[in-house]
Order: sequence, then structure tokens, then C-alpha cells
Amino acid sequence: MSAPTEPAATAGLATVPFWIGGRPATPHSRRRGHVMNPSTGAVARLVPLADAVDVDAAVRSAREALPAWRATSPLRRARIITRFRELLDANHKALAALIAEEHGKVWLDAVGSVQRGIEVVEFASGAPHLLKGSFSESVGRDVDAYSLQQPVGVCAGITPFNFPAMVPLWMLPVALVCGNTFILKPSEKDPSAAVRMAELLTEAGLPDGVFNVVHGDKEAVDAILQHPGIDAVSFVGSTPVAQYIYATAAAAGKRVQALGGAKNHAVVMPDADLPFAVDAIIGAAYGSAGERCMAISAVAAVGDVADALVAQLAARARALTVGPSMTPGIDMGPVVTAEHRQKILGYVDAGIAEGAELVVDGRRLVIPGHEAGFFVGPTLFDRVTPAMTIHREEIFGPVLVVVRVGTLDDAIALVNDSRFGNGTALFTRSGAAARRFEQEVEVGMVGVNVPIPVPMAFYAFGGWKQSLFGDLHVHGVEGIKFYTRTKAVTRRWTGDPTADSFLMPTLG
Ligand code: NAD
Repeated sequence: MSAPTEPAATAGLATVPFWIGGRPATPHSRRRGHVMNPSTGAVARLVPLADAVDVDAAVRSAREALPAWRATSPLRRARIITRFRELLDANHKALAALIAEEHGKVWLDAVGSVQRGIEVVEFASGAPHLLKGSFSESVGRDVDAYSLQQPVGVCAGITPFNFPAMVPLWMLPVALVCGNTFILKPSEKDPSAAVRMAELLTEAGLPDGVFNVVHGDKEAVDAILQHPGIDAVSFVGSTPVAQYIYATAAAAGKRVQALGGAKNHAVVMPDADLPFAVDAIIGAAYGSAGERCMAISAVAAVGDVADALVAQLAARARALTVGPSMTPGIDMGPVVTAEHRQKILGYVDAGIAEGAELVVDGRRLVIPGHEAGFFVGPTLFDRVTPAMTIHREEIFGPVLVVVRVGTLDDAIALVNDSRFGNGTALFTRSGAAARRFEQEVEVGMVGVNVPIPVPMAFYAFGGWKQSLFGDLHVHGVEGIKFYTRTKAVTRRWTGDPTADSFLMPTLG
């Protein structure tokens, strides 16, 4: 998306601002990127790409705001988060329209994604309960012991294009309610939702500087990773970048969690309710044009279910309606950029070249009136082998691959051989099969007859293996742990002046 200079066609377009110190901020960097409208293929607005000076301005703002914010009582912080939730509710549809415009997902899907983000804000508004420490009276003579949950400091969030509101909301309400200040670097492909949320936080009463937004690409990210004024980094994006963020931020002494990419399998057993499974898989594979980290992108068809399953998937995939994101009633919008479209088409070509059977071909889809939009039609491959590129790699588009396997054991082995471990789902009527699957599968989020098992806000979200680098998942109690440091205090208040001992004390 980024372009080093502004061609004449972009003259007069609005520029998405940074948000520093509670107001829009003028960038130091002169580099600009293009925010596209994927439905039309046109440039919608410009985005400044931050340099180290811009990142430093955001860090200074967050550092200055930190002492007063961390000293604010958890209840007062939570009340601001509650007010933010009310403002998100009031602005829900407008935020979704902004996301549909810049991302390309259909409007109702964007509405749903904002809702899932709001649920994390709801969770965070009850966080004072989770910020309580523990207390043990009289662990020794006149000695009590207790623990405190204190904020980490200045935290940064680096987020992907596919959920411009929801993924930042996995992080920022939890970080803020814990008493941290925050710098968000959203995806430069769809940056407007982040700034709109910053405005709403200010309207909710958040003090200036507590939440800041800078835009940019690798240059901005590297400035964040190296800045000594940033204490913790949360990242969500592709696996190679997640690995880089994890290694670089940790080497710079920061606390870090880095969620990566995915290849999520649906396992369909011969005893599954087939129409139900097909319906669920179609939504999970092609919803949001497959640009979800929890999308089902591979199916393991067990035993003799394969022929009927593929036939029904193909019929449903062919019937899906594709069009501009704001058109009522359509199933699927465009993918995010022209470059991403080309990458997806390259994977489809690789699948054909490696011998997979192309059952539904979405490569030549053209939407009348939107010929320049970045559309790829639903695509389905059958007879895919585990070693094929289209099975091993994350395509992140509307491409579903079916691998035929003999037994549940084979299916579990297929899932566990993947280097990713984000989500998976089993379709069956057997409790015994479901129980084995839940216990043996090496994946962070598991669904049984649920195609996209995204945990509720009060559980933690995160994958295993190369889908997450770091110890703690996002939101839920793990999110609170990530954004707090534990301090253990042992204190003595005594009236006995002889109580000090030269020897190691034996408590109790
Ligand atoms: P991406 O990795 O290209 O970008 C993510 C963020 O990193 C963006 O803010 C981007 O500006 C920055 N970035 C990109 N390249 C960089 C580089 N070389 N060095 C430093 N920073 C860089 O990901 P994306 O294309 O925006 O999003 C799609 C990916 O995110 C998919 O792989 C998807 O599976 C993953 N994702 C994962 C989860 C999860 O929970 N595990 C959730 C959503 C998306």
C-alpha cells in the first residue's frame, strides 16, 4: 500500500492523523502511504508513515501521562473504560462502516467484529476485581505478607489489517485499566478506526497522553522495538513478523507477546451432521474473504464423508454472492489490496501445478461496475496432500483445501503436524471422538461443532506453536497478567525492639 511520493491523483485526499497527547498530531516524517478502498480499487486517503522522531513524540507523551494515570484508582480507570464502552456502542455502526470501507469486509461482518471488541472493553470495565493482590496475615511474628499487581509502564500494540478495531481492543482496554499508558501502531492499510477510537477515549474522559496512535510500516515498528521508553509490546500479525518482533523486543529487554498466523483445520467425521457442518465451514472459510486468523482454511475429510462433503461445499461456494463491502445482502467482499490478491492467485496456481484438483475456481471473478476492485471468488481444492504448498502455508484468502484422511487418528496427526496451532474444529456426533480430539490436538483454541471457536473476552485468546511467541495469551486473566507486574511485600510492624535476628528467619 505504501508509496514514497504522492502522485497527482491523490492530491486533495485527507490524511489520517496521528493521535498524540490527546489530539491529532502533525507528523515529522514526510513519507506517506495509500489507504485503499478495496471495493473500488481507488485510494481513499493518505496515511503518514512514522519515523523514529514521531515514535519518540508518542513515547514522551505516554511517559509523561504515566505517573498520574497509574496513581488513579482502578475504579476510576474502570469508569472511563465503561464510558468508552458506551461511546463504542453509540458509534458502533459508523465504526463498522469505516472498517468496511478500508478493509473490504461486508458491513454486517464489520459490525460483528466491533461487537467482539466491545466485549473485551466490557471485560476490562470489571477489572478492579482482578487487580486485587493477596494478603497473608502473621506469616511470622508481627510479619504480614502480601502481593500487589502494578502496571508494567508504557505499552505498545502493533496490529494487523484484518480486524482494525477488534484486535486493538484485545489489548488497549486491558492495558489501560491496569494503569499502563499505551501507544497503538495499527495496520497502515486501514488506520482510521484506531484514530476514531482514540477520539472516543478522549471523549470518555481519558487523560491526554494515556493513549496515543502512530501509523507506519517497518520503520515505525523498529523504532518502537528499540525505544528504551517502551516497557512491553503486544503484536498480532503474520508469523515471520511475529517471530521478528518477539526476538527483537525481548533482546531489547521488553515484555512481549506476539501472535502469528494460522492454518486452521476443520475435521469432519463420517457421523457428522453434514448439512450443518457444510454451512458452518462455508461461513468460516469464506467469511471476510478468508482474511481471519481463525478462518477454516483446510478440511480433513475423514473416511467416506469426503465425496458428499466436497459436493456440498462446492455447491455452496458457487452460490456465494461477492461484491462491494457496503452492498446489502452480499456474502463476501474483496481482499485488502491488489498485491494481496496477486499473492492469493499465486497460491491457487501453485495448487494446480502441484496436482491438487481445483473444484471451484474464483480467479476470474469480475464485479460489474467495480472492475478495479480486489475481488477473488470462493475457491475450493480437493485431493490436496499434506505436503502441498496450499496445505502448508497460510493463504489468507477465500481458498479452502480438502485433505482426505482415513481415520480420526490420521486427522489429529494432520493437524498436529502443522507448524501453526491457532484454531481447529471437529464436526461429529460422538462424544468420545470429541473428547479425544480436545485432549490430543496441539492447538490453542478448539471447537466441537463450532467452526470458529474464538474465546469469549473473559477467557484468553491465543494459539500454540508458530501461532504465538511468548507465554501469555491476550485478554481474560492472561491479559491482566501480561499488563501487570507482581510485587511481593513482606512487612513487619512490631513493638518489640529485640525482634531483629542475625540468623536466617524460620517463619511460622
Ligand atoms: P503483517 O504481519 O503483515 O502486519 C502486522 C503488523 O506488523 C502491521 O502493523 C504492519 O505494519 C507490521 N509489519 C508488517 N511487516 C513488518 C516488518 N517486516 N517488520 C516490522 N513490522 C511489520 O500482518 P497483516 O497482513 O497485517 O495481517 C494478517 C496476518 O495476521 C495473518 O497472518 C493472520 O493470520 C495474522 N493474524 C493473527 C491473529 C492471531 O490472533 N493469531 C489475529 C489476526 C491476524
